[in-house]
Amino acid sequence: MLSQWSCIRLCSLSTLVRTCYFISAAVRTLAVPNNKVNLLDSRAVIGDLGWIAYPKNGWEEIGEVDENYAPIHTYQVCKVMEHNQNNWLQTNWILKEGAQRVFIELQFTLRDCNSLPGGLGTCKETFNMYYFESDDEENRNVRESQYSKIDTIAADESFTELDLGDRVMKLNTEVRDVGPLTKKGFYLAFQDVGACIALVSVRVYYKKCPSVISNLALFQDTITGADSSQLLEVSGSCVNNSVAEEPPKMHCSAEGEWLVPIGKCMCRPGYEERNSTCQVCRPGFFRASLQSLTCSKCPPHSYTHVEASTSCECEDSYFRRDTDPTNMACTRPPSAPRSAISNVNETSVFLEWSAPADSGGRKDVTYNIVCKKCRSDSQQCEKCGSNSRFLPRQMGLRNTSVMVVDLLAHTNYTFEVEAVNGVTELTSLPRQFVALNVTTNQAAPSPVSTVRKEKTAKNSISVSWQEPDRPNGIILEYEIKYFEKDQETSYTIIKSKDMEISADGLKPASVYIFQIRARTAAGYGGFSRRFEFETSPFSVAASSDQSQVLIITVSVIVGVILLAVVTGFLLSGRRCGYSKAKQDPEEEKMHFHNGHIKLPGVRTYIDPHTYEDPNQAVHEFAKEIDASCITIERVIGAGEFGEVCSGRLKLPGKREIPVAIKTLKAGYTDKQRRDFLGEASIMGQFDHPNIIHLEGVVTKSKPVMIVTEYMENGSLDTFLKKNDGQFTVIQLVGMLRGIASGMRYLSDMGYVHRDLAARNILANSNLVCKVSDFGLSRVLEDDPEAAYTTRGGKIPIRWTAPEAIAFRKFTSASDVWSYGIVMWEVMSYGERPYWEMSNQDVIKAVEEGYRLPGPMDCPAALYQLMMDCWQKDRNSRPKFEEIVSILDKLIRNPSSLKTLINASNRVSNLLVEYGTMGNSEFRSVGEWLEAIKMGRYTEHFMESGYTSVEAVAQMTLDDLRTVGVNLAGHQKKILNSIQEMRVQMINGTVPV
Ligand code: AMP
Repeated sequence: MLSQWSCIRLCSLSTLVRTCYFISAAVRTLAVPNNKVNLLDSRAVIGDLGWIAYPKNGWEEIGEVDENYAPIHTYQVCKVMEHNQNNWLQTNWILKEGAQRVFIELQFTLRDCNSLPGGLGTCKETFNMYYFESDDEENRNVRESQYSKIDTIAADESFTELDLGDRVMKLNTEVRDVGPLTKKGFYLAFQDVGACIALVSVRVYYKKCPSVISNLALFQDTITGADSSQLLEVSGSCVNNSVAEEPPKMHCSAEGEWLVPIGKCMCRPGYEERNSTCQVCRPGFFRASLQSLTCSKCPPHSYTHVEASTSCECEDSYFRRDTDPTNMACTRPPSAPRSAISNVNETSVFLEWSAPADSGGRKDVTYNIVCKKCRSDSQQCEKCGSNSRFLPRQMGLRNTSVMVVDLLAHTNYTFEVEAVNGVTELTSLPRQFVALNVTTNQAAPSPVSTVRKEKTAKNSISVSWQEPDRPNGIILEYEIKYFEKDQETSYTIIKSKDMEISADGLKPASVYIFQIRARTAAGYGGFSRRFEFETSPFSVAASSDQSQVLIITVSVIVGVILLAVVTGFLLSGRRCGYSKAKQDPEEEKMHFHNGHIKLPGVRTYIDPHTYEDPNQAVHEFAKEIDASCITIERVIGAGEFGEVCSGRLKLPGKREIPVAIKTLKAGYTDKQRRDFLGEASIMGQFDHPNIIHLEGVVTKSKPVMIVTEYMENGSLDTFLKKNDGQFTVIQLVGMLRGIASGMRYLSDMGYVHRDLAARNILANSNLVCKVSDFGLSRVLEDDPEAAYTTRGGKIPIRWTAPEAIAFRKFTSASDVWSYGIVMWEVMSYGERPYWEMSNQDVIKAVEEGYRLPGPMDCPAALYQLMMDCWQKDRNSRPKFEEIVSILDKLIRNPSSLKTLINASNRVSNLLVEYGTMGNSEFRSVGEWLEAIKMGRYTEHFMESGYTSVEAVAQMTLDDLRTVGVNLAGHQKKILNSIQEMRVQMINGTVPV
């Protein structure tokens, strides 16, 4: 028995040593990964390990050396044939060095019991590992019962005698961990209960996250946590010359890896990051903020001679504004504007100049106008005062032109055009300017500002007035217009050289309106505002001063029109009774007058307001769709009531189509639901290729939805802005034709849109434009462009006709005005009408007869059409029917679009005065009237001051009536000819 055992022992011993020697050499050459810190490595111990075995004949130490004569400590035991083995091997005390969890790596060989001669006996193939914690080394005599078991260790590979024959040893490596450890150190112990083991090496280590620099923050060595899945949060400290943008942190994992970095440090201004350190910026370079990446060279006209600069200083006579970025060059004030020219028109002056040769290096050059009034006999000048006005403004002009109006007639002025930029105010240098000397011409007088009542009687009123503030010459006579209040169609005109008249033949106790204007050699000025006076109910001595009075009475037979209105109602059938509940009765009249009688059977728009139950209106005009037929795909916009989405609609038996879906957001009120569905009630009544088509509504489930055809290119204004300059004129005219056709349909249906603007037109992938946005109340609550007027309504000022702004007179004619603005938007690819002018300035300028100039490269014929849409007198504007036909003609004959607006008529972004678009020269007004067989009115025109073709070209229907052209046929003929005259003026062709 014993000889057998010693034989085994010898064999195994010699083999173990050899193998061990071989392996240990290999292990020693491996570097210890730097996140593992050894507390004990049996192979690294030189000299005696000092472990204790008991009983003494159990574990045995075999002292060997490797090829470098370094000792190899191997313990072995092999009492496989003896019963009741309990052999302990205790390490010496291991200091834990702050670790909370340690790892024990064992390398050992184990004999396969089956391979032992003489059967299994008591042979075991495992051994046990224990530990005991203590605060000091003294406590060496640990009892077995005091140890805690770490694990039973078995071999992955055991060896047999055959293996020994082959000299192949199977070395096992097992790792166990233990923790949390609470005392200063611990002992390990290996218990053998009857196996054949050689313990070749024992390594005890803990893990740490090794010190690292990440994002310029230094994280110190960190011992991992006690728990095997624990992440320790560790704060980093910023490296030299860096600061924390957000406190830097990382997490140390149980495996000793750094994970999840948070926050970071950044190099201070004046330093830049290189190789995880902050390096100083050299002289001539700067770094201004944490946000810039590297040190940059000083920008032009600036310098720094020191290290670590955070900015560069400007050279002499160069400057930097506080708001200029530090990497921008230093700049200086601009030189003077160049090539200034002036163009005087009566008491208005148009000034134009070129940008300065040197902008000072900036893009924010603007211009200020200094206006001086000079005496003609001397060089003495004084500031102009506040009577004159500058369009668009006097200071801070971005464009190189300005219109100055309301100057004094026959006066010398000097205008200094100064160029300034963002750094002008930082210098004390004199401003650079170019000066223009200008002398104004004659001009019509300004309106009479005050009219006083002198005397009233039962049948007469005497009034007096004062000379206009700016007569602009000698006043030849005054014209007094008066009429009974609300009876404007029948009025009387009196001409007088005095500044007082008496109006006779009036009704007692009635209110009369008076308006007065003055005439000089330059023609008539504008009428005064309206003054109201009332005749007395009793007979009082009346004035008899009628000497120099010439009376012209103009009457319009209202009765005929009333009769026509009644007939119109009868013809249009029962529906008409409620079809236009919101429209003005006068409009009915005008519609009738213009031949727009609604015949029975012709569809008319019905205002959903006329329904008591708005739900009934929705279901009458819109199909109910089951929500399951709709697939919502994505959000494409935001409407007033909720999101607008695109999606698909698949109705039973029909093919699937793309649709737009407007949703009503949750939490709506009853009114919101009504208003939301109101749009569907209106849209559902329309069926036209240029009106957005309603597929139906979802009202029986939530969310409530309106489903319409899908328009791939979305709102026209955004679409045009995105594709600036990308379309041919014919394509643009095609879009306009579509919109006009849709509007013709709406006006024929008796629907007034009130918010026609490019943003409310949708375009599909074929560039077909369709009118959309049919709010129910049309108070335009949902249009961000709409502004409150003094009367309380909300109106998109820039798109709205003056009469609609002033007294809410919304008609198809006011839609025509808006259409003209849409034309302008389209031809300028989505430019904002009147640019950055304020709403108040727009109202004022339009009221004074100024209009938008033609967009760049706009065909003259289109601009003429726009101008016609913007006629002050709404009855003189073309109807949509005519607009469609004009556009059709232009499309059929594209060469008519070749003539572009004269560059000189296109006054950059200044408004143009209506009717001053050209310099046509008829030989005389008389000849022109003769030519159109209206010679009989020559005298009337002359007397009223319409002595030049230019003056005639500005005339409106109202003016014709004032002159005394009362027959509708004659008015039409003359207006048509004036229209032609304007086109020819624009085209530059001069008719004789
Ligand atoms: P609205 O509430 O009608 O002003 O719609 C808001 C936005 O949704 C619009 O400006 C369009 O961009 C988009 N939108 C509305 N209707 C449609 C449609 N039928 N097809 C494509 N886009 C649409």
